[in-house]
Amino acid sequence: MKALFLDRDGTLIIDKHYLHDPAGVELLPGVAEGLRRAQKLGYKLFIFSNQSGIGRGYYTMQDAIRVNERMEELLGLPRPVFAGICMAPETPEQPMEYRKPSPRFILEMIEEHQLDPAQCIMVGDRETDIEAGLNAKIRVAAVCHGKLDAAAWAQFDFPNLPLYADFAAFAASL
Ligand SMILES: [Mg+2]
Repeated sequence: MKALFLDRDGTLIIDKHYLHDPAGVELLPGVAEGLRRAQKLGYKLFIFSNQSGIGRGYYTMQDAIRVNERMEELLGLPRPVFAGICMAPETPEQPMEYRKPSPRFILEMIEEHQLDPAQCIMVGDRETDIEAGLNAKIRVAAVCHGKLDAAAWAQFDFPNLPLYADFAAFAASL
């Protein structure tokens, strides 16, 4: 059993800092096609997103769920698109449970869905995405169209980190 663990903001949809209005959801180019391709190849899909705006009281878990629902609507894929979704509500100052770089969600899903860690990949646009994947001892891939371009990624100590222009390019590589 193989799976993709996907960051949401900046990886699948445009990162709009504390997005909580479903009307603001915009898919990044090629994401629907990329997810369809991954599903066809047998990957289960999971969303793994840090949502400190919940912990900070800027918006609620229900708001975050509505954003996810809008994203699924825009994807136009057979639902449910995702086998599991984790919205980690903690702020960086609160005790870390699910918040990336914690690998907890990934480890729980590996157990629950009997996934092969060697065939699981965490994909994201921030260093904490990569750290969460490494902490869970699965594969990792980074996209470089958001805050971190290839030069910025090179400043981190992630040996042999696979870099892709965006999620579409990553999915095409599967
Ligand atoms: Mg992100």
